[in-house]
Amino acid sequence: MKQYKLLIIGILSLLLTSPSIAKTSDSERPDKKKETREEKVEKILKELTLEEKVGQMTQITLDVITVGENAYVSDEPLAVDTKLLQEAIRKYKIGSVLNTANNRARTPEKWNEVISAIQDEAMKEIGIPVLYGVDAIHGTTYTAEATFFPQQIGLGATWNPELTRRGAEVTAYETRASSIPWDFSPVLDMGRNPRWPRIWETYGEDVYLTSQMGAAAIKGYEGENNDLSDETRVAACIKHFIAYGAEKSGKDRTPTYLPEIELREHYLPSYKAAIDAGAHTIMINSGIINGVPVHANYELITRLLKEELGFQGLVVTDWADIENIHNRDKVAETHKEAVKLAINAGIDMAMVPYNYNFTTNLIELVKEGEVSIERIDDAVRRILLVKEELGLFKTPYPKVKDYPKFGSEEFEKDAYKAAAESITLLENNNDILPLPKNARVLVTGPNANSMRTLNGGWSYSWQGEKVYEFAAEYNTILEAVQNKLGKENVKYVAGIEYKNDGQYYEEQNIDIDAAVAAAKDVDYILLCIGENTYTESPGNLHDLYISQNQRKLAEELAKTGKPVVMILNEGRPRLVSQFVDKAEAVLHVYLPGNFGGDALADVLVGDVNPSGKLPYSYPMYPNALGTYDHKPSEAPTKMEGMYDYDSSMPLQWRFGHGLSYTSFDYANLTLSSNEINGEDTFTVSVDVKNTGEVVGKEVVQLYTSDLYASVTPDNKRLRRFEKVELKPGETKTIKFTLSGKDLAFVRADLKTAVEKGDFKVKIDKLSADLKVKNTVVFDNKEI
Ligand code: BGC
Repeated sequence: MKQYKLLIIGILSLLLTSPSIAKTSDSERPDKKKETREEKVEKILKELTLEEKVGQMTQITLDVITVGENAYVSDEPLAVDTKLLQEAIRKYKIGSVLNTANNRARTPEKWNEVISAIQDEAMKEIGIPVLYGVDAIHGTTYTAEATFFPQQIGLGATWNPELTRRGAEVTAYETRASSIPWDFSPVLDMGRNPRWPRIWETYGEDVYLTSQMGAAAIKGYEGENNDLSDETRVAACIKHFIAYGAEKSGKDRTPTYLPEIELREHYLPSYKAAIDAGAHTIMINSGIINGVPVHANYELITRLLKEELGFQGLVVTDWADIENIHNRDKVAETHKEAVKLAINAGIDMAMVPYNYNFTTNLIELVKEGEVSIERIDDAVRRILLVKEELGLFKTPYPKVKDYPKFGSEEFEKDAYKAAAESITLLENNNDILPLPKNARVLVTGPNANSMRTLNGGWSYSWQGEKVYEFAAEYNTILEAVQNKLGKENVKYVAGIEYKNDGQYYEEQNIDIDAAVAAAKDVDYILLCIGENTYTESPGNLHDLYISQNQRKLAEELAKTGKPVVMILNEGRPRLVSQFVDKAEAVLHVYLPGNFGGDALADVLVGDVNPSGKLPYSYPMYPNALGTYDHKPSEAPTKMEGMYDYDSSMPLQWRFGHGLSYTSFDYANLTLSSNEINGEDTFTVSVDVKNTGEVVGKEVVQLYTSDLYASVTPDNKRLRRFEKVELKPGETKTIKFTLSGKDLAFVRADLKTAVEKGDFKVKIDKLSADLKVKNTVVFDNKEI
């Protein structure tokens, strides 16, 4: 009888709760509206004490709470120190942790073990999950067996935003598989200064290309609708707002002097595009602009970012940058004063990272009335909302087994594809490439047999020096060429090696004679040169020329009379003008990741037709560093008369340059109208034909030039691009839609406007005239 009753109750409750049968669900009932995320966050915020709120704004590095002698190192095997964890959570109520321990990659299982311990404690003690963040910048940097794509500069060189999106999507999946929901990527700084050691972390020198790539990366990390509750996505962190990399000296984190007109014209649009694409978090520039540390700059963080751009997400500092306001930049007399400046400027979370001074000082500042509780609430609200959107309250950490695609072949294929499309053929005299498949080659140079140099910094460790321990299963250039041409056809003599444990520029075992001797019985020399890995200040540079040893190696090898194919594997354009004429072909591979060797071997023999295009201007001389969008006076035409001098800007290779094994012809550049109003849209179409023998991909690049303007106009500007694949003989018509807004620029009054007058629209060598009939000033918020 009891069983019978239970059965009826069971059926009834099933009928009532089954979504297809129940008439109205909870969320549909007008009287019981579903609580929004914002309402949930408000409820939590109300319950928090000041100490708990300030704790949420505190981020420490993992080494602080692991077993080990001090806050800087952890014992191996890595384990969380229960007492230190309890101190962090129970006493300081911290809201966030970052980084790995001992600067070393871990398995997803280890990550899960560490992060679950942290989350369990946080949920038990404060009921708020910790927001764990990491730099997963070309793949999940700190996870063993993760899939590594090309670094951002290589993705920039693909001119294919879909590859960037996919790379971010795979990285998001593998980062979440490592129990980490927050990724300090992408970098949206501009690579406009080749001396800067983080050029390779950018998408290059152009703000339009960067904006397109950045927006694609956001969609890859966060998903098409930025729905972070999808456990294969992460919250992206765009960085480093703003104009990081524009340092006067070219050295990392040294002063930048940048007028607002230039900041708005060439540095702001990439951030705007990423914010419009829904990026949830942002990191601030560690440097100093016009004398003010950006972390203490109210105008930039609150007025520009939060008010003008309408950024609703979380603003985090870069590493120790509140301390830097006091210790390094001497703008605040005490650490406490620095905290006040930063929080009042609009910082929401401090990447402290080693102690709790920030927490203690901020609590005091609020009690003393120096920082308002409204400012604190605003910051905490932003932090809690990201946690809520990520679903961390419900699932603070996932199960590793729910990520079966981690490190899968499917992901690896995508990484290979991106590497292959990034490789840029800069020279190819007499069509020496592709090589015959039975070619006998000498592979030489310090970059020939190194997974480390293929990957660059932020690969298994910060400076990339641990790549050897983790990437042995992938192919170096040498191994990939051996696989392609047969071991018996490949000789290898390094000639020069990098010191693995020294400074990135230190070289050893120099034996150029041995390399020259080995060239005797081969048909071609594959000379692999460039740089060892670095990032940030350790990568500061005193000389932009490639090392003297490498130059010597190139020159001596050329003397053998064997054709030299020069492969540039480097994170920034190191000058090669002194000896580049000794090479018959030049390929730039940037930092292509774990599949870069394989991709290069395929390009060398023509299994892949190269389609990369330079994402920066490759300089020829150290005193002729310029960007393609320079001002007319930077590349003047010759003066008439007695002063017959030439001060133009010679470049080794121009922005957007890249050869193919086929050839393309452009014809019929047509505008829907040659006269427009400033608000109008118009279309530009062009026919592009593959006139060669093999299938190939071409990047159709549309530039415009404003002939006269109230501010000296840029030489030209990239406005649209599209990568197309064409079979031999095939023609495609490419159509772009633009509007007056695309022609606009920042005027002296800092308003963005398109001014009436004449323009040129340029694609390849074709050009068409365009007249804008009236001047339109746009609202900066709308642009
Ligand atoms: C870098 C950031 C990075 C942060 C956390 C800083 O030194 O400038 O790009 O996200 O460290 O690792």
